[in-house]
Amino acid sequence: MQLRIGNGYDIHRLVAGRPLILGGQRLEHPQGLGLDGHSDADVLVHAIMDALLGALSLGDIGKYFPPEDPQWKGADSLVLLEQVVALVVERGWNVVNVDAVVVAERPKLKPHIDAMRAAIAGRMGLQPDQVGVKATTNERLGPEGREEGISCHAVALLLQP
Ligand code: MG
Repeated sequence: MQLRIGNGYDIHRLVAGRPLILGGQRLEHPQGLGLDGHSDADVLVHAIMDALLGALSLGDIGKYFPPEDPQWKGADSLVLLEQVVALVVERGWNVVNVDAVVVAERPKLKPHIDAMRAAIAGRMGLQPDQVGVKATTNERLGPEGREEGISCHAVALLLQP
């Protein structure tokens, strides 16, 4: 039995005129801001994908879904997550669990956490209790605190039986 751990980090800018999608859920920012990016800019799912890829030293999501490739424009990040999990499974690995923390001042994420966990787990072929999603503010410090962006840190543990 072998174990591997990976970590992932991502940040996207908060801008006007974009939807705010986190963990596959469309949320409402009090100022109507959303995350900028080539795909749907789901920073939570992006950090989880990088943690999964990192665990197997497979590079990062930019390698598989390059932002200059028009086919990923507006892409549903949960679909990209399914593809990353397929890469992991193809290599004979199972996901034990993932855990993530989203850093955002607003909106309040707590009411949406369980829906995010269920959506992510569903696409990964996991149970919701294998997907940890937490939220914290940045105490108004730094880019997240000034609401210039939302970031996410994630870890993933993989097992090869
Ligand atoms: Mg990203």
